[in-house]
Parts: sequence; structure tokens; C-alpha cells
Amino acid sequence: MSKPTTLFEKIWNAHVVANEPGAPTVLYIDLQLVHEVTSPQAFTGLREKGLKVRRPDRTFATMDHSIPTVDIAKAGSISLDMIDDMARKQLNQLVINCNEFGVKVYDTTTTERGIVHVLGPDLGLTQPGTTIVCGDSHTSTHGAFGALAFGIGTSEIEMVMATQTLLQYKPKTFKVDYVGALKEGVTAKDMILKLIAVNGFQGGTGHVFEYMGEAVRSLGMEGRMTMCNMSIEGGARAGMIAPDEKTFAYVKGREYAPKGAAWDEAVAYWRTLKTDEGAQFDKEITIDVNALEPMITYGTNPGMGIHITEAVPDPSVIRNVNERSSLEKALNYMDIEPGKPLIGKAVDVVFVGSCTNSRITDLREAAAMIDGRKVADNVRMMVVPGSEDVRKQAESEGLDAIFQSAGAEWRSAGCSMCIAMNGDQLSPGQYAVSTSNRNFEGRQGKGGRTFLASPLTAVASAVNGVVTDPRTMIN
Ligand code: SF4
Repeated sequence: MSKPTTLFEKIWNAHVVANEPGAPTVLYIDLQLVHEVTSPQAFTGLREKGLKVRRPDRTFATMDHSIPTVDIAKAGSISLDMIDDMARKQLNQLVINCNEFGVKVYDTTTTERGIVHVLGPDLGLTQPGTTIVCGDSHTSTHGAFGALAFGIGTSEIEMVMATQTLLQYKPKTFKVDYVGALKEGVTAKDMILKLIAVNGFQGGTGHVFEYMGEAVRSLGMEGRMTMCNMSIEGGARAGMIAPDEKTFAYVKGREYAPKGAAWDEAVAYWRTLKTDEGAQFDKEITIDVNALEPMITYGTNPGMGIHITEAVPDPSVIRNVNERSSLEKALNYMDIEPGKPLIGKAVDVVFVGSCTNSRITDLREAAAMIDGRKVADNVRMMVVPGSEDVRKQAESEGLDAIFQSAGAEWRSAGCSMCIAMNGDQLSPGQYAVSTSNRNFEGRQGKGGRTFLASPLTAVASAVNGVVTDPRTMIN
């Protein structure tokens, strides 16, 4: 009988092209996703070396980071007039590069364009058992489908473009077992923020997380993507969830999904993609979901998170000098008092969007909570769908009208305030509750302060004008 193996090992082993002792593995890559910010040097490198993109049929590009999300009422007629020169140049260059190298680009003339980690699943490009790379760290999102997906650097983008392979040292495995069942008002975002708070924002370094347990299986695909998206915030190379019937149902019928007999064959293979009973992981952790509350971050890395009812930690009781000084620095930047919960803290901006929480179920949950309520006068609320497909779906369900009548801004697809582009940013000193994935100093605008949380917590805080436990607003 063969040795029990993990999901990660099955996919890794199936993609090894060459494996010499002491050298990195040559790994076959099934899909490369590209966006405007990290790809220009890679295309230039190919051009200078006289190389081609080896598999243009397995390389897809989109515009997300630099694209404006205002005044673009309908995809296909996006005006680029209002963005800055650098952003305009990047977007134009992406089209030039993709046309020259025969790569399909979802640009402003297409109706599907979106954040790269929303677009791939939307189109059915993201499939179980595949290896997926992109010059963006949140490529881990695609692991929700049982894919091995991770971010790569510029020279690696060029290597994959030229060879469809990548040099990689094999990461270790890390089982994250979520036991128990989610309570109302507690979401996938809270599950992943809890892991990062408990295990540390670098606790997964050198490993690939596999999320397991009933609470994970109970999540829809969007929730699973939220979890895998933030694997990188927990330090891991990637995050994965074994595919199941929900995965197959999500992929089926999408543009690039296998069709007919190829579909049946694919699903038969995908059903084998799970960790065997008795397989060994290099590390393991268990999270009790029964005790989980909505999470919120208080500091300047995603590991600085607490249950929303808990008090912000007090540096004076921390013995480790480095930890104490890092917490002091974070609280100083955030201008937050330790020893008290964040509930009741006034907020200026609420952002619902990003590749973490901008999919249709995120928007449905947010709309259901804000329906019939108003955004507080002191708050600016922005809702930015992750892709034009998501935007169209949301509009067909009337979600845009719900957000707008509550006083929120309804935008077109893009990264927007996740990365402070095109004027979508905090002013110095402002506080935001954000559904994005990073709360680093200045991430959402110079001097801006970010509390990461779920869409439910974001909406509850927008309505009350202060950080609010969403459970108090659920009947
Ligand atoms: S939404 Fe934010 S984290 Fe996601 S790809 Fe865009 S900038 Fe990166």
C-alpha cells in the first residue's frame, strides 16, 4: 500500500518536471495570471532575449490595481481620463505587451475584467489539482479550489512565461483544523483572522496551510476563497482546501471549465484530491470555531487581531521586549488606547471590497444587513465589486440600489482602497473598517489607520458610525 499523502503533496508530485538533490524542483505551471503592475519587466525581459510566451493559452491578463473605479458606469466604456500618468502608462503597456505576445487580456473593453483573484474563478480558469501563479501574493486565493497557487516575483513571471515551469523549493505542510460550527454573525473572514491572531502573521512561514474540518466544509466557495486569500498574511506560501461537490458545482459551466466527456474525466480526477487518512503534516493547529466571535484587528499587521468584544492588548504586561516594542509602535500609529475593546471607536470610512471580500455572497451579506438602514453621517462607505461579472450579478439582484439608498458609494471593479489607488484612499489620521487583507502603516493611504474585519462588521460599523459587533444587528 502506498504511503498516505497530503493534498499538497499529491498536487506537487503531479507537477514535478525534474528533481535533483540539493537543487530546487522544476515545477510545471498550469496557469499564469498577469496584471499591469508586476508584468512589464517580465515582458521586457522576454523581448530583450528574443523569447516568446510558451503557453499563451495558459496565460491570462487583467487590469485591477491601477484601474479607476469611479465614473465608469458600464464596462466597455471605461474612461481612463482621470487616472494619473503612471497608471495610464501601465494599463496601456499591458495591452501592448499582451497583443505582442498573444496573451488574452481582460482590459477596459471587456465585460469580465476584475481583480485577478476574482477573475480566475469567475471564468473557470481556476480548477482543482492545478498549479497557478501570479505576480501577486494573494494568488493563494485560488487554493480554495484545491489548487496549489502562490505569488511569484518578476523574474519568476518571466521564467514561467518563457518555459511554463518554475524553480521552487518544496514547502512544508501545515494542517489547520477548524472544529465546531460557526455561530450567526461569524464568518470565514473571522476564521482566518483568528488563525493569524493565534499562529502569528509569520507563523506559517515556509509552509502551505491546508484548511480542514466541518466549519471549512460548511463554507461556500466564496468563504473558502476569503480564507485561502489571507494565507499569505499568516506567513504561508499558500493555502488549500480539498475540492468537493461545492467546488465542482461552482466550476461547472464556467467559460474555461472542461465540457462534456472532459468534464466527467476532470471530476473523476478531482475527487481523488484529498489528504489521505493517516497522512503526516509538518505542523498542526486546531481552532475551536464554537468559541469564535467576529474578529477585528487593532494594529499594523493582520496578526494583531482580537474578538470584537475583547480588549486591545496592553504592552505593559508583555515581557518579551521585541513584542512589547512592536505593539507599542503599532498602538502609537493607530492612536489606540490599550486595555479597552474597539467597540464604540468612531470610524471615518468603511470599505467593502478587495480580493478578500468582494464576491457576490460578500455583497449579498452586506446588502442584507444594510437594507432599510442608513450609513452614519460621519462615515464614507464604498462598495467595490471584485469583477465586472460580480458587479453585473449584484446589479441584477438590486444590491447596488440597496447600497446607494443607504448612502454608500457603488463602484466598478478594481482593487481601489485596498491599495489606495486613484484617489480611493484614507486621509492622514482617518480610521477605516476594511474588508481587505492588509492593515500595514499607510496601506490604505498615508497616515490612514485600518481595522480589518468581515463585511458584516464593516456594515454594522458603517451604520452606527463606530466599531460595532454585527451580532447586535442580527434579529
Ligand atoms: S485587492 Fe488588494 S490584495 Fe487583492 S490583488 Fe488588489 S491590491 Fe492586491
